[in-house]
Amino acid sequence: MALIVQKFGGTSVATPEKIQAAARKAVRTQQEGNQVVVVVSAMGHETDHLIDLAKKVNEEPPAREMDMLLSTGEQVSVALMAMAIHSFGHQAVSLTGAQMGIRTDSSYTKARIKTISTERIRKHLDAGKIVIAAGFQGVDDDFNITTLGRGGSDTTAVALAAVLGADACEIYTDVDGVYTTDPRLLPEARQMGLISYDEMLELASLGASVMHNRSIEFAKKFDVPIRVRSSFSDAPGSMIVSMPESPSVAVCGAALTRDEARLTIKNVQDTPGMSYAIFKRLADRKITVDMIVQNIGLESRADVSFTVPSNELRDAQRAIQEAMPLVGATEVTCDDAVAKVSVVGLGMADQTGVAEKMFGALANAGINIQMITTSEIKISCLVQRSEGTQALRAVHQAFGLHHKPTDANTWHIGQMQHAKMSPSEVVERLRSTNLEQLTLLDISLLEDQARVTLSGVADNPGLAEKIFKAVADAGAVVDMIVQSCDGHQGETSISFTVPSDQLQACLKVLESGKFGVRKVTSASNIAKLSVSGIGLRSHTSVAIALFKALADLGINVIMTNTSELRVNVVVDGKDAKRALEALKKTFEGALV
Ligand code: ADP
Ligand code: ASP
Ligand code: MG
Repeated sequence: MALIVQKFGGTSVATPEKIQAAARKAVRTQQEGNQVVVVVSAMGHETDHLIDLAKKVNEEPPAREMDMLLSTGEQVSVALMAMAIHSFGHQAVSLTGAQMGIRTDSSYTKARIKTISTERIRKHLDAGKIVIAAGFQGVDDDFNITTLGRGGSDTTAVALAAVLGADACEIYTDVDGVYTTDPRLLPEARQMGLISYDEMLELASLGASVMHNRSIEFAKKFDVPIRVRSSFSDAPGSMIVSMPESPSVAVCGAALTRDEARLTIKNVQDTPGMSYAIFKRLADRKITVDMIVQNIGLESRADVSFTVPSNELRDAQRAIQEAMPLVGATEVTCDDAVAKVSVVGLGMADQTGVAEKMFGALANAGINIQMITTSEIKISCLVQRSEGTQALRAVHQAFGLHHKPTDANTWHIGQMQHAKMSPSEVVERLRSTNLEQLTLLDISLLEDQARVTLSGVADNPGLAEKIFKAVADAGAVVDMIVQSCDGHQGETSISFTVPSDQLQACLKVLESGKFGVRKVTSASNIAKLSVSGIGLRSHTSVAIALFKALADLGINVIMTNTSELRVNVVVDGKDAKRALEALKKTFEGALV
């Protein structure tokens, strides 16, 4: 008998009628000869209401009590769903996170799942009941109730599918599947037949709220194919699997994060240990930092900019206040009216011209780019929040995302069986003492690279495109790009890396005076160190351990970028080997 996990999101259980409709789907699936576990979210906007309520009694509610409160939303819906199934004459039992034995760590409001005991669920399934599992919640070792972070019911569903060795994991939501971007923002978005784990993981963490990013970490780690489909139709939906939709396109999707805030710490001492001192304090508070840009400054001083989710800005400011005296910084500025537009695609890793195309699309729309960061499979640009949707539309259009790729792969249901774990693998997984523990796959070194920094670049739409077009025409293949405002009014600075043997060609075009750049500096021998794994943006400890290892050796970090798949740092070439050894030693226990 097959086992199917079905998850119904907030809109899918928003009213008694919708709960009944979802209950009917579960009953139908059971009647087709399957065992069924249903994971449910809180009804409609209930979680938002509970947060508002909490804020009415305390501006900054204690996190433990917040989880106690928020978990009630899911408790209501599991009970109602079980009642609905009973009303159709079928057996169902509702279980909270604690009753299912979902053990988490104690990081309230963003707890990670450690273990799940499946006996109780199995017992009920074997007795012919449909199990209704509360999404988004668990308990820590002291039985404090915890929640997994907004959107976390997806993670409950995929985690249950993984540990139960389910035959299918279906995410029922209010759209027909995964689109090239949020179809509510851009009606021209196209529904994808399938998308790879890596691409979905990046998109989810860059704003594609259709899936909780950590659910995709589970899916990738345990190879759980996911079907995302509509609660309100029988349309087939989209598959999230190990392969991409098209083997040839550079970009498969775009996303917008509207609730982003930028912080800049000015005049930081540019010495080893500086990144560690700053980002450790943010990581200690479990704040997810993105778009880290360090301007290569004058007189051993640097400006460090990065973004955080707007709702964590206040906490981030506190963390920075602690770090400032340690790094000799003089000032912090912040901008809470920014949005981040990103493009993602596995094909980007081995195609050139993708960054220019994105910068060109924004320039043509008259949109100024405030910050740029790139990594292997994503490019993010920070823009004014009021221009966010327009920016998203411009890049979606430029990459032709509304057209189905001519070489699109399809996914057959038979492949689902192939991906399924064997019973022994499931047993092995259940032995795991920490399901969401960090998974590192590789540590590598790329030598013979060069850095180019352009300071005093006029902050005008279109300049980034022109610069990277000229560099590409000079035959250089650009890897990391970072850009941020550098403190002078209306000016910005751009740094990027290229292979060392392409440096001279780059310098020749950039020093031609065509781009009105105040100063061009370069370093001909730098190296990129990369730690790759799964979910590295939310496992902030990786970047921190990396910064610490380098700081302990007195090695300066010249550039950094992070994605879900990798943390990269650029160091001086002469330090490269020593740095690699140190990282291998730091992470040796975590490599799989
Ligand atoms: P649920 O309550 O079912 O978990 P969510 O609101 O969390 O639903 O996620 C579904 C929403 O995600 C959609 O209504 C859509 O607006 C949004 N979304 C954002 N990006 C995408 C995307 N790339 N594809 C599909 N939906 C997306
Ligand atoms: N109810 C929670 C939220 O709104 C979890 C979820 O819906 O996935 O974030
Ligand atoms: Mg959701």
